[in-house]
Formats: sequence, structure tokens, C-alpha cells
Amino acid sequence: MQHLKDTFKHKGKRKQLILELSEMGIKDQRILEAFDQVPRHFFLDLAFDDQAYSNMAFQIGSGQTISHPYTVAFQTELLEIQKGEKVLEIGTGSGFQTSILCELGAKVFSIERYSDLHLAAKFVIDHLKYTPKLIFGDGYKGNALNAPFDKILVTCGAPEIPNELLKQLKVGGIMVIPVGEGKEQKMLKIIKQTETSFSREEFGTFKFVPMLERTVKK
Ligand code: SAH
Repeated sequence: MQHLKDTFKHKGKRKQLILELSEMGIKDQRILEAFDQVPRHFFLDLAFDDQAYSNMAFQIGSGQTISHPYTVAFQTELLEIQKGEKVLEIGTGSGFQTSILCELGAKVFSIERYSDLHLAAKFVIDHLKYTPKLIFGDGYKGNALNAPFDKILVTCGAPEIPNELLKQLKVGGIMVIPVGEGKEQKMLKIIKQTETSFSREEFGTFKFVPMLERTVKK
């Protein structure tokens, strides 16, 4: 069960988290402002309410986790989001990252392979009055219907870069994706230079739950 009430205590803790994120190197003020606007505790079980603004990952059900606030901020910064851009997110999970993208003015499409997480995220996001398109499906396939995208964000660890996602990125577009077979992944920023050529830059090691194929109904 979630806690859909924002109190002074939560707001104060959010300010503290924002300070921490900026000390950790997040520079984009718009992203810090978005963290101020989106109540992270709404996306967590009530049991985690007290720690919702510490820089930690938590279980969100179906063996999945909500990403660390720093990881969300870092991936978002790499994406260089501009208002009105079409963004595809793979791994809706709790819906927290989705909401941050919406708060930045992006037109967001987000895919989740677990039906229960997809529905729980939809409930909180509707409550916050954001209007992304939430899709229950397999992120490996992307979303051809709404492609091409200005930006693509993968929030689960991919064994390799899915070809279909590269296809659905606009020329000049950016994809941020953690890639690696084991428990750790390298954060990659890929820029589509032309229809057939890509540049890639590496940004350190992170730990994500794995990107898996097919959907799960439960
Ligand atoms: N952005 C999320 C992070 C959740 S963890 C948040 O802010 O909470 C990553 C999520 O990716 C998990 O919910 C997992 O179920 C989902 N996932 C893994 N493989 C997937 C796939 N092929 N398609 C869609 N979602 C996937």
C-alpha cells in the first residue's frame, strides 16, 4: 500500500535529497527541481515511507526495485531532455522515473513487462496527473507505433543493445542504456549519428535488475 499524502516532513526530506544529489555531481537545475516536485514516497510501500528520500533502491514487488535517486538523476542528465521531446522508457517499474521525465515536459512512452507493476505505476501516475502513455509489453520490441523517439532510456540491465531500439531512435537522438551480462552494467550513452552509424560513450558501472524477454501477467 502506498502513502498518497505529501507532508512538510516529506518535503523537508526531499530538499535534503536534492542537496545530496547536487553534491554528488548532478548539475542540471531542472532535474533537481523535478525531484522537488515528484513525491518519491508515493511510489514505495508504506513500510519504506521513512527512508523514501535516502539515496537507496527499494523492492517494489515482483522481485523488482525502484532505482536509486542518484541513478535516476544521472540517467536523466545524460538524456539532455528538452520540453516536448518524445521519450521511450523501458522498465516503468514504480513509475518514479517516468514521472520525472513528465515533470521535465517530455512526452513519455513507458513499457513494463509485469502487469501488476504496470497497473500500480499507472495508479500513482494518474493520481499525480501526469499523462504518459503506459504500455504493458516487452521492451525488447520497443514501440514501433510511436517511433521514432528523440530519446530512449533503458532502466534495466541489458545483455546487449537491442537492435529494435536503435532502429526506433531518431537520427541525432540519444539512448541511455546500462549494458552488461552479469550483476553489473556499464552505463552507455549512444548517439545516432546517421541511420547506420552510432557513437558511444561510457559512464561508469551500475547495478540494475536484468532486462528480460516476454511479458508476465500477474
Ligand atoms: N524506472 C524504474 C526502474 C524499475 S527497475 C523506476 O523508476 O522504478 C526495471 C524495470 O524494468 C523492472 O520493473 C522490470 O520488470 C522491467 N523490465 C525488465 N525487462 C523488461 C522488458 N523487456 N520490457 C519492459 N520492462 C522490463
